[in-house]
Amino acid sequence: MERVLLVRYTEIHLKGLNRPFFEQKLIDNIKRALYGIKANVEREQGRIYIIGISDDVFDEAIERLKRVFGIHSISPAYAVDKDWDTVVATALSLIEKQVALRENLTFKVFARRSDKHYFMNSDGINRELGHLVLERFPSVRVDIHEPQIKLSVEIRDKAYIYAEEIPCSKGMPVGSSGKATLLISGGIDSPVAGYFMAKRGIVLSAVHFFSFPYTSDRARDKVVELTRLLSSYAGNIKLFLVPFTEIQEAIYENCPSKETTVIMRRLMMKISEMIAISEGSRALITGEALGQVASQTLESICATDDAVRIPVLRPLIGFDKDDIMDWARRIGTYETSILPYEDCCTVFVPKHPVTKPVLEDIRASEASFDFSDMIDRAIEKTEALSVKYSDPKAI
Ligand code: ATP
Ligand code: MG
Repeated sequence: MERVLLVRYTEIHLKGLNRPFFEQKLIDNIKRALYGIKANVEREQGRIYIIGISDDVFDEAIERLKRVFGIHSISPAYAVDKDWDTVVATALSLIEKQVALRENLTFKVFARRSDKHYFMNSDGINRELGHLVLERFPSVRVDIHEPQIKLSVEIRDKAYIYAEEIPCSKGMPVGSSGKATLLISGGIDSPVAGYFMAKRGIVLSAVHFFSFPYTSDRARDKVVELTRLLSSYAGNIKLFLVPFTEIQEAIYENCPSKETTVIMRRLMMKISEMIAISEGSRALITGEALGQVASQTLESICATDDAVRIPVLRPLIGFDKDDIMDWARRIGTYETSILPYEDCCTVFVPKHPVTKPVLEDIRASEASFDFSDMIDRAIEKTEALSVKYSDPKAI
């Protein structure tokens, strides 16, 4: 009996004429996620079938597919001959396994007949199979409204029989929405922000600013590891590591203390924008949430946005910190994010940062010093890493 994975996809259905493009992206991403696992990925009538996965890596394949955006759910199914006796025997053995797992099992049969030449129609299959299950397992009941088990039978080139539907990440296939550049710190929020944009089909690149020797090599390694964890959802990520010490020291020597955070954030944005444009990215992404800290008030956000021309996407803008932390745990970045290595933002924090910066004042303070040579030097010394999830450790 051959085991296959039946993959259902989500919003791709809505994309009309673009649908083949979205489907192809999804298939490419599925193949990439299954690297090292022998499998054939086939598309047929709004479904994707993955066949030929050997039993020892079947669960591993499911775990990887749960991270592929664009997949709504997966059902592990038996693909058997369409011969009715085989269909019945397979369906009964599936129910038998479930009966062993729980008492008072309820079920409903869902038949779909794509092969219109099959000798029985969907209603007939529903009725016949339902009857045979009840006859064989007296403790089992039909529940047409809320069955515990949906016994599904699809008659196509073969009969596909399954009873389980594993929910997946949903979203859109990475690569279907263009490219954007994530400002990634070592904190909790920015990896979650990257996750949400990748979920909408964005290909990510990432920029990290570090201030050696104020920040350590371990802080840098932590960011590389966070990027690696993110790449298990987002695919390969190019990570730019920008040396920021000289610029930060110049800000603190030359600008009013209470404005240093906003000016530092503006310069981060400017450098990120230059890198983003050179990379073909159309937007920046940050992990900011409104009101979370002094630099995330509406006034501060306006003052930082003013430094760049391309859009700044802030997928967490309306999130509470608790909810962001829950997501970080869920996607597996939390434990790394809370490692206690300092970020360059936290090294030079002013005692009394301005919470309502006046844009004209900030512009004037920033213009009082010429940062342009330092910006050029920082970009010149930027190191680019290609971070892949398949690397055991990308550092
Ligand atoms: P995070 O948990 O992501 O660090 P945060 O709540 O600590 O966020 P800030 O330190 O104010 O907030 O940073 C806000 C955003 O600025 C971050 O989410 C990230 O997008 C960006 N950012 C902060 N520090 C860096 C850095 N060193 N390199 C690149 N981007 C950064
Ligand atoms: Mg931070």
